[in-house]
Amino acid sequence: MLTWKNVINFSVNGNPTPDRRVEKTEAEWRELLTPEQFRITRKKGTERPHSGALCSIYDAGKYNCICCDTPLFDSTIKFNSGTGWPSFTEPIKENAIKYEKDSSLGMVRVEVMCNTCDAHLGHVFPDGPEPSGLRYCINSESMTLQTEKENTDEN
Ligand SMILES: [Zn+2]
Repeated sequence: MLTWKNVINFSVNGNPTPDRRVEKTEAEWRELLTPEQFRITRKKGTERPHSGALCSIYDAGKYNCICCDTPLFDSTIKFNSGTGWPSFTEPIKENAIKYEKDSSLGMVRVEVMCNTCDAHLGHVFPDGPEPSGLRYCINSESMTLQTEKENTDEN
């Protein structure tokens, strides 16, 4: 299980290697995404709290990157943080997420990105519930929920 120490280590010394990479030009992303999704994922934007569609949804499934469809988080590790943004205690896989130190807005935070396509997702904080103690605070607009029912239909 990842700890805050691991997160800091990744942000300082480099991130785990992703299973694959997806790279597109800004124009290509703009074509694929809604203006709000583009602003958040490609321009490091933040949606208004409590505005996201996935905020109060707890259906079983996987949360995939809106840009490249890579699974990022699982519904079993989603929790209600009360912040107004979907919150998780750990990534679905250690190498799914990329961490970078973010010193914007006059504070030092750890930015969370998709390790496959570098989409901005949100930030991670060391005040989450046990056992990981991590709180991944993620923009709803940066993800799509693939419910388990949809998975079964595809198979
Ligand atoms: Zn991605």
